[in-house]
Amino acid sequence: MFSQTRLVWIMLILRPAIFLDRDGVINVDHGYPHKLKYFAFMPDAETAIKRAHHKNIPIFIVTNQGGIGLGYFDITAMRQFHDHMLAQIADAGGHITDIAYCPHHPKSPDPVMRDCDCRKPKPGMILDLARRQVKLADGGADDISNRRITRTRRRHIRPLPIARPVGP
Ligand SMILES: [Zn+2]
Repeated sequence: MFSQTRLVWIMLILRPAIFLDRDGVINVDHGYPHKLKYFAFMPDAETAIKRAHHKNIPIFIVTNQGGIGLGYFDITAMRQFHDHMLAQIADAGGHITDIAYCPHHPKSPDPVMRDCDCRKPKPGMILDLARRQVKLADGGADDISNRRITRTRRRHIRPLPIARPVGP
C-alpha cells in the first residue's frame, strides 16, 4: 500500500487535471467581480469546461480573491457568485471538481489578511486541492508532501496560454 503522502505525489503525476483561473478565464473580469447581476462567461468557457468534463478530466478553479482582503466584498458574496457560476456550468453540461480561493491581499487594511502561502503565484491553493482530493486525514507528513508536491508541480504542471478576445 502507498502512504497518503505518496498517493498525493502519484496522483499529481499520473492523473491529468486542469487548473483554471476564474476571473478573465471563466467569467468576464471587470475588476473584483462578485455581483451576480454582472456575471458573464468568457467566450467558449462553458464549452471548454463541458468538453474536459466529458473526457473525465477534473477541473479545478484556483483564484486570487484579494477583494475580500481589501474589504470590497465578503466570503458569503463570493460563495454566492460561485454557486451561481457552478449552476450555469452544470446547465451547460460541465462540472467543476473543486474551487480554491485566496482571500488575502498584500494591501489589506487587516494585517492578518496581508500575508499567506496561498496567493498565486505561491503554490498553497494547489497543495490544498491535492490534499483535499486524496482526503489526507493525517497532517503529520505535510512537510514532506509539500516538498514533494512542489517539486512535482515544477516538473509536471504546465501553464497553458488561453487565447483572449482582441478588440472591442
Ligand atoms: Zn492567501
